[in-house]
Amino acid sequence: MSCDIEERLARELPAYALRVVDALEAAGHEAWVVGGWVRDALLGRPGHDVDVTTSAPWQETARVLRAAGVEVHETGTAHGTVTAVVDGRPVETTTYRVEGAYSDRRHPDEVRFVTDVREDLARRDFTVNAMAFHPQRGLLDPFGGEKDLAARVIRAVGEPRRRFEEDALRVLRAVRFACRLDAAIEPATQEALLACAPELDQIARERIGQEMDGILATGRAAWALRHEFPVLAAAIPELAPMAGFDQKSPYHAHDVLEHTARVCAGVEEFTGGGASQALRWAALLHDVAKPACWSEDVSGRGHFFGHPEAGARTVAAVMGRLAIPGEVARAARALVLLHDFEIRATAPSMRRMLAELERACPGQARRLAFALLDLKRSDAVAKAPRCMGYAVELDAMTRVLRAELAAGAVWRVGDLAVGGADVIRERGVEPGPGVGMVLAQLLATVMDGELPNDRDALLAWLRW
Ligand code: ATP
Ligand code: MG
Repeated sequence: MSCDIEERLARELPAYALRVVDALEAAGHEAWVVGGWVRDALLGRPGHDVDVTTSAPWQETARVLRAAGVEVHETGTAHGTVTAVVDGRPVETTTYRVEGAYSDRRHPDEVRFVTDVREDLARRDFTVNAMAFHPQRGLLDPFGGEKDLAARVIRAVGEPRRRFEEDALRVLRAVRFACRLDAAIEPATQEALLACAPELDQIARERIGQEMDGILATGRAAWALRHEFPVLAAAIPELAPMAGFDQKSPYHAHDVLEHTARVCAGVEEFTGGGASQALRWAALLHDVAKPACWSEDVSGRGHFFGHPEAGARTVAAVMGRLAIPGEVARAARALVLLHDFEIRATAPSMRRMLAELERACPGQARRLAFALLDLKRSDAVAKAPRCMGYAVELDAMTRVLRAELAAGAVWRVGDLAVGGADVIRERGVEPGPGVGMVLAQLLATVMDGELPNDRDALLAWLRW
């Protein structure tokens, strides 16, 4: 490690984190910055949260920091963790520890506090995550994490098989960090990871959900699908039938898995890497129900009737099980449900799409409309070369959609320039479901462009 790099890290370490380290050391303890901040700062990305590891027992950490005027929350004291808040920034501060036996292969039976920071580093998952930094003492890197980081290699700390057997979640974490760092997985680590992937079914669903969401957030799910599919299929068994599933369709040059990988890459490409999590989940799962919905016609061609609806049900089931936030899951479900919805580059067609999205995911239609077009565009270019022309049509649709939204497009009953009271007064209908039916009819007429959304025009229509 060159002094230059250590000096740079020392300069970049945020003052709020330094305050925690300094307070602990002034009281005679040892403290290091550890994990994600060190890894990302070495890569020239110093924005990561700072975690601190210290020789002080948590009660002592809390006492010392409070005496130094720092706010402390006892967030995970069973594992030796307290969270210091300095200038509004949280610093997780944990006592050096190792984990005991993992008899259930999920949770360590106990954590044991230790006095040597090297022992604490040794219990961490990958070499790139097992480095500690101190502004005066420099980088502590007993497992060659800096070298692996530079070479973009994910390597287990210690014996890979044993490390994955202790906690199978690490299998999925390896894939997440490989995606995140654009890294390869070291061969022995890779071999152990494949052997242990089936153990993921023992892991708490929400931990799997967090790591899967993290893999998608890297924008490199396509890589994971192509290179680590057995791991993803162990995390989400519904994905498994996609591999090798021949679509027997002139519209598809690839199996469902490769098609899905292309769609995942496509949504990143079309959004400049800024796809929403809902769009990423939708890309991953949009064709998940194809194998189950497959049928063959007399000419030997494959069809997938009902796969968007069946897929939407699978999305709700999978994302619910993995405890993905409801807002993201509902939006992803709507995108999958409508990914084959037929649209054209006309204003009425765009309004109908908005209305369908509104029904599938109330209140989100405007935002989801662009995501749906990006999904459809990615889907089109990921099929067969003959589908490319549709991607060009989608550009025209995007322009029409923009113009429609700018012109105050109407797609909800609430957007109409008249309301229920007008219907009751002008039509003489009783309050009740009849009012809603009249408004729905009126909305359809306006959306089709047969009437402007103009109060006088709508009142005249009601009187007529
Ligand atoms: P991210 O930005 O993704 O949060 P991170 O490095 O902070 O990256 P975390 O999952 O927050 O990752 O974990 C913090 C640190 O704790 C890791 O860098 C790693 O050293 C250690 N760690 C976390 N989970 C495990 C695990 N399951 N097994 C071993 N070590 C782990
Ligand atoms: Mg973290």
